[in-house]
Amino acid sequence: MFENTIEFIQKTYNTKEFLPLHEPVFFGNEKKYLNECIDSTFVSSVGKFVDRFEEMVAKYTGAKYAIATVNGTAALHIALKLVGTDENSEVITQPLTFIATCNAISYCNAKPVFVDVDRDTMGLSPVSLEDFLSTNTLQKEGACYNKTTGKKITAVVPMHTFGHPCKIDEVQKICERYNIALVEDAAESLGSYYKNKHTGTFGKIAAFSFNGNKTITTGGGGMIITDDEVLAKMAKHLTTTAKVPHTYEYIHDMIGYNYRLPNLNAALGCAQMEILEDILKYKRALADGYGAFFEQQKIDFVKELENTRVNYWLNAVVLQDKTQRDLFLQQTNAKGIMTRPIWALMNKLEMFKECQSTQLSNALWLEERVVNIPSGVNLK
Ligand SMILES: *Cc1c(COP(=O)(O)O)cnc(C)c1O
Repeated sequence: MFENTIEFIQKTYNTKEFLPLHEPVFFGNEKKYLNECIDSTFVSSVGKFVDRFEEMVAKYTGAKYAIATVNGTAALHIALKLVGTDENSEVITQPLTFIATCNAISYCNAKPVFVDVDRDTMGLSPVSLEDFLSTNTLQKEGACYNKTTGKKITAVVPMHTFGHPCKIDEVQKICERYNIALVEDAAESLGSYYKNKHTGTFGKIAAFSFNGNKTITTGGGGMIITDDEVLAKMAKHLTTTAKVPHTYEYIHDMIGYNYRLPNLNAALGCAQMEILEDILKYKRALADGYGAFFEQQKIDFVKELENTRVNYWLNAVVLQDKTQRDLFLQQTNAKGIMTRPIWALMNKLEMFKECQSTQLSNALWLEERVVNIPSGVNLK
């Protein structure tokens, strides 16, 4: 049934061996910078590569400030905390996301509220968001409250699924109208733009991830970006144990976190940032090839929409129904081609099944049909 697809993917990667979904690639200054780092002995929480990596990401995304963190989840946790998320809060997000989004909300002791996604972007739907806010919330002293629970809604967290930007300008306008902070989970979307503006720069604050499976990696790592100087300073303070700067004394003025990115990881990040454009070029060529092939096969390949530029982090196809999807997964994996269904919806997981949600028909529809296919850069 999917023999042509299997053959095409094996030909594309020029191998019949096991093919992972995504692999990191190191063809720049990675070893050089890592060696510099080791030679300098600054492998840990202090060093020039952390500052340099932050500057590179700020410059690349167009954000005023960037603060490196130990991983993307930590970046999201602090971003949410900085917009006031606590045990008396709720955070609106999409059910179709990686668990980290909801974990970060939970680390603030807040509850997620789920609104639907759009079928075309796979990201948070402005229509569903507006629908929820207009019927379920009220404004009090310049803030938004959930009528049912009485809790303050501190943030909306859209996620740019697999690097495809959601309708972020519409989401941004709604957030402004309802006095809610927009916190973008841009973990998957470094190199993705909406109307020529980098994802993660639409809201108050955003998070990126540099985990091993992302477009570029620091081994493990993350980044907070924001244009707000106060938030940026507080982000640095909170992620570095809230130590008051002093030549020799150890004074901490709040409960902070050890969420620093080690210099060793940042060294890798600097080298990866230098080759990001080359990686993106390759990923685009791969996606173009997939697009042309799946069009012939009458299989729906997820393509860049108008007004967007996609990093094509993970390529995805949308099968006709769950039966077709299962067949696709079985046949490709049996041949050593790693393919994977999109995440199980967050509202179905034990920890979040009591959480409030709108109807989620698009998320449910996508959950049964979307499959990721190999997307790594092929250096062979
Ligand atoms: C990868 C990812 C994160 C952060 O993950 P870390 O592994 O902590 O860096 C957050 N949200 C989404 C949607 C992700 O894909």
